[in-house]
Amino acid sequence: MDVKFKCNLCGGEDGKTIPFRYAFKDRFLWGVSCNNCQLVSIWPRPTDQEIKDMYEDDYFTSDDKQTHHMEVSYLDILSKGDYEEGIKQIKQYCQTGNILDVGCATGNFIYVLSKNGYNVKGIELSTFAAEFGKKNFGINIINKPYSVDLLNKELEENYFDVIMMGDVLEHFTNPTEAMELTYKILKPGGVALIQLPGTLNLISSRIAFLIYKLIGSQKTMYIPPYHLTEFNAKTAKKMFEKCGFKKIIITEDVKPPNTITLRGNFAENAFKVTFQYINYYLTKWFKVPGDRMIIEIYK
Ligand SMILES: [Zn+2]
Repeated sequence: MDVKFKCNLCGGEDGKTIPFRYAFKDRFLWGVSCNNCQLVSIWPRPTDQEIKDMYEDDYFTSDDKQTHHMEVSYLDILSKGDYEEGIKQIKQYCQTGNILDVGCATGNFIYVLSKNGYNVKGIELSTFAAEFGKKNFGINIINKPYSVDLLNKELEENYFDVIMMGDVLEHFTNPTEAMELTYKILKPGGVALIQLPGTLNLISSRIAFLIYKLIGSQKTMYIPPYHLTEFNAKTAKKMFEKCGFKKIIITEDVKPPNTITLRGNFAENAFKVTFQYINYYLTKWFKVPGDRMIIEIYK
């Protein structure tokens, strides 16, 4: 179906719905593919207040996979994170220096980084998470949206050696602006380490969408619309190039089949798991798109 919208990447106004939507409050928010650049956006956008409300206590404490996006509470995941492995990775880029974690949640990782001698800052939209980090780790987390309003106030230009954006860009209402800001505040030669989900790029999703199109139906999600942009390697690369990044390395990755979240009926779940096995080996061996992208981009 043709729709009018506003593409965050190219500014295009003509798009087509894909057979994927969220039932959110009293309305449907559709996946819309831009006719010009192919970026998939969720449209219409939730309001800024609705987005802020999505990330309060429940987002971190709920373990209900039918209404939230995780099967165990996010606080549990954060407390059990393998941060030593993360430190090893950061050390490959710099031994000391200024590090920013965008969407740092409760700040567990930047706390460990600070103990290892790094100068750290965290940004987090959720007041619940920012307060939790302050109370439990004594760290200062900027509790504001990651927008250009922070420039030359909380965030200086040409300042950071490493900026981490793990599973966060897809949550933003204006990801292009977020990447422009990232470019400005990185030092020349600095790196942004980005992880993006890409569930719609899976073979199982592509087949399911073909079937939905054939029968004139669609996948309706009943969790809140946390992901407002669905990237693939091409659209992600276009966005980073537009924001000035020159060296862009995108590695396709895929979740092991025993770790994926299953929300469907028995047949849907069996289909999803079977194709996750197939996709898993195709991604590992032949770089076929999976459901994750691991990205390094340099200023
Ligand atoms: Zn576009």
